[in-house]
Amino acid sequence: MPEGLEAAIYADAATELVGHVVSSIEVDDRCADSKELAILVGQRVQNVRRHGKRVALVLDDDQLELFFGMTGRVIINDVAPIGALEYGPSSERPEWDRLKLTTDVGSLRVNDPRRWARFTLNPDWSTLGVDFISDAHQLDDVLDRQQRRTAAVKSVLLDQRVIAGLGNMLVDEVLFSAGIEPCRAFASLSVDERRQLSTHISAVVTRLGERGGSHTGVLSPEVRGSLPACPVDGAPLSRVKVSGRTTIFCSLHQR
Ligand SMILES: [Zn+2]
Repeated sequence: MPEGLEAAIYADAATELVGHVVSSIEVDDRCADSKELAILVGQRVQNVRRHGKRVALVLDDDQLELFFGMTGRVIINDVAPIGALEYGPSSERPEWDRLKLTTDVGSLRVNDPRRWARFTLNPDWSTLGVDFISDAHQLDDVLDRQQRRTAAVKSVLLDQRVIAGLGNMLVDEVLFSAGIEPCRAFASLSVDERRQLSTHISAVVTRLGERGGSHTGVLSPEVRGSLPACPVDGAPLSRVKVSGRTTIFCSLHQR
């Protein structure tokens, strides 16, 4: 699934529609209720909201959440702000359009070959934790509140109720950068290690955001696939599952 950084890129691109009135909406019925979404025709796009990995268009009376699944891409006025996702095809086909929202000046499409995209009216985001970008100043407090959790550090960081926006690749990159082993119980972290973790979350999010997405880290998709020696110390990188997610780490410098 696109992670928070990709959601931020999509949300930013979608602001092109702000100020414009929806003239038509076409939706794949397997991804949303097209009759329900027809209520958006005639409404003006007021704003674009993003919290964590979630993105919604804010219209006059309703909000429309765009959920991209693992392979969905946003295309604004026939331009894709992100070319190929890690697991997605680099090309698009018209029959993969799951949503087409047209305004007086342009269109927004969500193209998804696997049909996992979903479009929801007036979503409830109340269970989401702090946003990984805009609430970065709260990370110390948020991590302190998790200090008794016995779950793996990685599982806690992936928990969208704690910090919204961190996905599998970003979390691996953060833990690699912070030198923390992903399977360690969160409760085993010292105060200093929790501080270190929040510092590295902010730094990694900023760095990869500037580079263009969560695939641009040291543990890039290529490194994740080929497992070369750790670029820090030359030890072999390891691949394990944590919370059902493929996890790459260095058993030498991540403790
Ligand atoms: Zn290493």
